Formats: sequence, structure tokens, C-alpha cells
Amino acid sequence: MTDHLMQNYLPLPVTFEKGEGAWLWDTEGKKYLDGLAGVAVCGLGHAHPAVTRALCDQAATLVHTSNWYHIARQEALAERLTALAGMDRGFFSNSGAEANEAAIKLARLHGHGKDIDKPTIIVTEGSFHGRTLATLTATGNRKVQAGFEPLVQGFVRAPYDDLQAIETIASNNNEVVAVMVEPVIGEGGIQIPDAGYLQGLRQICDARGWLLILDEIQTGVGRTGKWFAFEHASIQPDIMTLAKGLGNGVPIGACLARGEAAELFQPGHHGSTFGGNPLVCAAALAVLDTMEKEKLVERASQLGQQFIEGFQATLAHVDGVVEIRGQGLMIAIELDRPCGELMNTALQAGLLINVTATQVVRLLPPLILTDAEAQQLIDGVSKLITDFLN
Ligand SMILES: *Cc1c(COP(=O)(O)O)cnc(C)c1O
Repeated sequence: MTDHLMQNYLPLPVTFEKGEGAWLWDTEGKKYLDGLAGVAVCGLGHAHPAVTRALCDQAATLVHTSNWYHIARQEALAERLTALAGMDRGFFSNSGAEANEAAIKLARLHGHGKDIDKPTIIVTEGSFHGRTLATLTATGNRKVQAGFEPLVQGFVRAPYDDLQAIETIASNNNEVVAVMVEPVIGEGGIQIPDAGYLQGLRQICDARGWLLILDEIQTGVGRTGKWFAFEHASIQPDIMTLAKGLGNGVPIGACLARGEAAELFQPGHHGSTFGGNPLVCAAALAVLDTMEKEKLVERASQLGQQFIEGFQATLAHVDGVVEIRGQGLMIAIELDRPCGELMNTALQAGLLINVTATQVVRLLPPLILTDAEAQQLIDGVSKLITDFLN
């Protein structure tokens, strides 16, 4: 404990010292099963040997040069990611918020290219897009914004999973240039839209010449049981952002674009000192290699089903459980009451879980879980919730 950190976080009373796979050990030697993976970051678990090797080898060779020079690892990563995602070009940042900033800047360039003076982006209620001024403005949660006004101009909000609301905005506002949504809302409580929502957005964007921007920072890189969540809807975005699962804990974000949107940035338009340096790109390449080799995308889908079926069996009939839902390894158990204290009781029981949107227990476990570890999480979390509700 120190008095010398700003007080923007409220950490639980534990300090972890080492990790391996789905397990963490605290400074007292107590062992925890990780159902959160650093908030959808460590998809390959902790200290995965392939990532460790890539980091050590790259650190011993070259950590950083500058985007003033070609970076072979960055070029290789752009080729891998665009091929996987069906996109054309990528820009690398250090975080999710910065990846979204790049997407927002692309949308504004797109608008100015059509002589729209105040290009406006439609964003949704309940969304989370980051903590920079533009991304907290895009975020559909007043708590994230309060105290930081004035907010950034050029955003208009619609309810999530409501195509009619988008059409209504379209007919009243001729400065709209893009729609930016999460394919599954993460921080806002794992909200999964209707099957036709993303397809409907795609059609509206095509009809009006808008860009469809998907924030896949939480859903991307295998988390939902597909490489990218848009694949569930068989559509293709114009712009997609990634971050959390991409580096397995090494700070890297990406903004990928396709078609006209991929050609918008010209020299001088955007940049980052650290973004896409050899070290982080080596880690991300190792993540992609390992996901392919260990077939972790398919595994996420399979495990997701095991979680949903498991929780249905243990919790569906419990009074106070409102809904059990998920897509791949984004899993939610919504309760009828606030349940933030469950994070603490889980910790005492040696389990790491999260509560978001006040009353949603959220699991974002690593994709490398064994069946037995998944079952241990299901049993442990079911018991915690049942005890809490009784
Ligand atoms: C976590 C998250 C972000 C922000 O990423 P940072 O790396 O914290 O800036 C943005 N969008 C979504 C959907 C996220 O889950």
C-alpha cells in the first residue's frame, strides 16, 4: 500500500506475484483460478511460453526504433491481421482508447471529404469506448463522463440494438458520417444484440455512405468463439478496433480499415511514438501463432457452451437470477440486485470474477482453460451466487 498513487482505482485487497496458465499466486502464496484474464486480455493465460519466448527474444534483439523507419514486425502483424479480418490496412496504437481515437479521426476525415462541416458519429447507450476525451464522449455511460465536461462535439446517441432509432436520427441529421458500436456490449453488462442488428447497421451504412465502425476491443481475437464478433453476423465493418486480447498483456491496440476508409490517413494525419514497436508486435504475432496452433478460437466457442450449459444447470432455477447469457467466453449472469461485493467473496474463495453494470456477474476467462478448470469455475461461481442470493 502506498499514498503515492492517484486514487482513480479502488483495488481489491490482493497483490499477485506470479501466474501460470489460468492460475495466479498472491504474495502469501495463495492460489487463484482466473475467470477474468485481466479483463479479456490474457487469452492465452499467464506466462504462456510462446509469448514469453517472443518477448525475451525480441527484447534481446531490438525493442524500439521509431515509425520514422520501417518496422518488419509491424508490417508482418498488419499483414496477418488484415488477412484474418478481411481488412486492407492497419494502424497500431498502445491501447483500446487510442485505437478508437484513430477510428474517430478516420470517420471525421471521411466526412470532411464529403464537405460535411461537423461530421457526426452515431454511438449507443450502454457502450464503453475508453477514457480519453473523445472516447469517453462516445461512451454511453454518464458516470464515465461526469466531471470531465465540456465533452467533445460530433456524437449523437441511439439506444443499443434499435435500428429504427438509427433511421430516425438519419432522417433528422444530414451530418452523420458513421455508426460506432460494440458487436456485444462488454463493460455495459454483456448485452448481445438481436441476430439482425449488425446486418441492419451494415445496410443502413451502405445506403447512406456512412462508415460502420465496430469496437472489437473486448470481443476481438477469439473471445466470442470467432476471430472477430462480426463473423457471427456474416458482415464486414469498414473500420474495426482491437486491443485487449491482441498482446496477451503487452500494451497494443489496432485500428483496421477496409476500402476507402483504409486510404484516408495520409502522412502527417496521425501517429504514435510507441505504437507498433518491435516488442509489442512480436508478442501479438506470437499470440496469433499460438491461437492458430492450439485452435483456441474453436476452443473458446466450445468452452462458452460448457459455461452456459453449466450455469443453466446450477443457477437457472435460483431465485434472484435474472438471466444467464453469453457469446463464446463473454459470459454473464445477471442478478436482480447489486452484487459488487461478490468480487470480494470470490477472491476469498480463490476465484477471480468481475461484476459490471452493477448487477451482472461477468466472466472473461482465458481461452486455454481445461474442461476441469472450466467446471471448477462453474461450480465455484454457482456456489457464490447461490449463497449470496440466499
Ligand atoms: C476496454 C475497452 C476499451 C478501452 O480500452 P483501453 O485499452 O482501456 O483504452 C474500449 N472499448 C471497449 C469495448 C473495451 O472493452
